[in-house]
Amino acid sequence: MKACIITIGDEILLGQILDTNSRFIARELAAAGAETVEMRSVSDGRDEILHAVADAMRSADAVFVTGGLGPTKDDITKSALADYFGTELAHNKQAQQWLEEIFAANPSRMNAYNQTQAWLPKSCTPLRNMKGTASGMWFEKDGKVLVSLPGVPFETEYLFPAEVMPRIRAKFGERLLRYKMVTVFDIPEAELAMKLAAFEEILPKGVGLAYLPSAGFIRLRLTAKGPAEESLDGLFEQLLNELSGLRFTEQTGENEEESFARRLRQSGKTVACAESCTGGNIARMITAVPGASAYFLGGVVAYANHVKQNVLGVRAEDLEAFGAVSESVALQMAEGVRRVTGADYAVSTTGVAGPDGGTPEKPVGTVWIGVAGPNGSHAEKFTFSRTRERNIGRASVKAIALLLEEMEK
Ligand code: ATP
Repeated sequence: MKACIITIGDEILLGQILDTNSRFIARELAAAGAETVEMRSVSDGRDEILHAVADAMRSADAVFVTGGLGPTKDDITKSALADYFGTELAHNKQAQQWLEEIFAANPSRMNAYNQTQAWLPKSCTPLRNMKGTASGMWFEKDGKVLVSLPGVPFETEYLFPAEVMPRIRAKFGERLLRYKMVTVFDIPEAELAMKLAAFEEILPKGVGLAYLPSAGFIRLRLTAKGPAEESLDGLFEQLLNELSGLRFTEQTGENEEESFARRLRQSGKTVACAESCTGGNIARMITAVPGASAYFLGGVVAYANHVKQNVLGVRAEDLEAFGAVSESVALQMAEGVRRVTGADYAVSTTGVAGPDGGTPEKPVGTVWIGVAGPNGSHAEKFTFSRTRERNIGRASVKAIALLLEEMEK
């Protein structure tokens, strides 16, 4: 099944907000085996919306539109869609009832603007929005589907899995791709591609291998459609064999934070971190996933030397002798935060994130990562890429990976 995503809003085009709705929807679709073939952001103009919708309905089986459903006058998606589907806005009893339920505790808060939200294009099926006042809308035309959802991310993030995906599965179940994924660590994409070149050669028609690189790891997605679906499991086993000698993990569409969280939870142990060059990014990644309090005790962002000394107990003479970016300091930071928090395991980072601060011995991208646990501590030195953002990202992913490796020993 091919999908297009259209996000509507001048705020996106002005660069004032980041379009997170497309990312969310595309991820949900990918996890279900649908292919997103296009994403597009358009302004709040009627012509722009109509033009984008007409284009998308030609090239996709299902089109997902977000934005422009609110009660304010500049939100014109509803009337543009009514025009596109050759219908008109009409009072929808179902949507009216949902609105009344939302305002049941305080009916006086429902004003004329909210009332307009019960007016929907006649031919749509309304989708109940438990997180807001604008209903989603499901349209069908010539075997294709268009779904219109609110712009507010948490409303779309509720509606999409709850109301949209079950209907998509019911309508297009047969046409969703089958796929399997594996995440490979510590290898550049080009090197991995060389290693898998022969495997890719033998892939039959209908089977595809996609490389999805992130900081510090690459996801491989093996997809199969039509008659080729039967060969997917066998080919995936073969792919895993090809990866022998590399560090990899099979996973099911979860992102890196979720994958780390699952492994941390499974360990049954507690962790902490002491961060210098990653500036709190490790703690952010760990706490991005709900339930982190079960294993994450805390973190210290020890940027200045005196914080490394006073909070983490790093020895002044070692800072002086070896410098902050050193094995000795990485070890003492990890041990220090483990002691202070009482965690079972701890990880630390100290490095040169850049763009300034590099020296010939410690160029930008040099990072020491320390790990401390019940079996002692150790530290490793890495040289990452040259941009600040990538150095921080790669060092954070590497640090959590090393922490987990120690925990899973
Ligand atoms: P409402 O009018 O009730 O606010 P709506 O469905 O009309 O909702 P918009 O007005 O387009 O939606 O957007 C509501 C808010 O949601 C915007 O102010 C913006 O912050 C956010 N938003 C809209 N579209 C996106 C998007 N694609 N990605 C992330 N955030 C978005």
